[in-house]
Amino acid sequence: MLYDNHGRHVNYLRLAVTDRCNLRCFYCMPEEGIDYVPKEALMSYEEMLRIVRLLAGMGIEKVRITGGEPFVRKDMMDFLRALSQMAGLRQINITTNGTLTAPLVPELKKMGIRSVNLSIDTLDKERFFQITRRDEFGKVMQTLEALLKHGISTKINAVVMEGKNEADLLPLAMLTKDSPVDVRYIEEMPFNGEGAHYQKLWWDHRRILEKLKEHFPSIEKLPDPPASTSSNYKIPGHQGTVGIIAAYSRTFCGTCNRLRLTPQGQLKTCLYDRGVFNIKDLMREGASDDQVRTVFLDALGNRAKDGFEAEKRRFQFPVSESMATIGG
Ligand code: SAM
Ligand code: SF4
Repeated sequence: MLYDNHGRHVNYLRLAVTDRCNLRCFYCMPEEGIDYVPKEALMSYEEMLRIVRLLAGMGIEKVRITGGEPFVRKDMMDFLRALSQMAGLRQINITTNGTLTAPLVPELKKMGIRSVNLSIDTLDKERFFQITRRDEFGKVMQTLEALLKHGISTKINAVVMEGKNEADLLPLAMLTKDSPVDVRYIEEMPFNGEGAHYQKLWWDHRRILEKLKEHFPSIEKLPDPPASTSSNYKIPGHQGTVGIIAAYSRTFCGTCNRLRLTPQGQLKTCLYDRGVFNIKDLMREGASDDQVRTVFLDALGNRAKDGFEAEKRRFQFPVSESMATIGG
């Protein structure tokens, strides 16, 4: 089992498999002028499989595939198939924007993918276009339908943005009425490739909860699973649940169980750090398995206590990189 220097059990890897994406979400990327990582600087599938195999042997039980958009990377299904056959992993989850995912859902189900996070910030086609700068709303909704039809547990990630999708808070909550979906409202973070959009975050976790309580006064608090980043609730009579992720306020760092790898192989022990070591470069220099394991152990032995400390350690490099280079 893996523990960090603060006694936190670490058993979860978030693996960003590409920085490429076919959407341009306002909160994640600028509309134009994106410098993608050169292809040769991206981790290969072989490199990613080696890392996951090593980490699974050290105590990582769950892997989330994210990006950029995972399904824009060629041969992604072959990679997922190889991952699904790896010994030691208990769970493989995927976060996707849903634009290319619907036709792949039956195959994902066959591989044993039991849970998918689908990003939907709005249920309005026009607002979808304004937020993502692409006209793909219909395809995303087809993915939601396919996931539900195939009984894949589905969480909806919705970033709450001032002046953009306030009108969607309640309609998104209403999705939980007749479908077993879990809607997760996420505080917007300044990982957008440009720098902070606001002086002060208006839609923080407290305000989101207030808004839900105003309309659903009988909303009930649920016990949160261990290491959950969301604070979860149920609206009586609804099949699904709603949750709030205080990603900017960082209320959950005390139980954080995750490591992150960027598409270039940069290890992050906190979402807010700048990356603590490049594992891909080390492997390309010919490092042995033991040397790679040692780097993971050293990084965990020097982990920031929380996202605020990790942010301080960035010194003169404020958070501004695109979330597509991190994976969320
Ligand atoms: N492309 C996939 C998707 O959108 O689901 C996976 C990658 S995306 C970077 C992962 C998650 O990060 C998405 O749910 C997205 O909403 C969230 N995200 C991206 N930028 C964010 C930001 N600035 N603040 C909060 N969440 C963000
Ligand atoms: Fe692409 Fe996901 Fe970022 Fe949107 S949030 S631009 S879908 S990587």
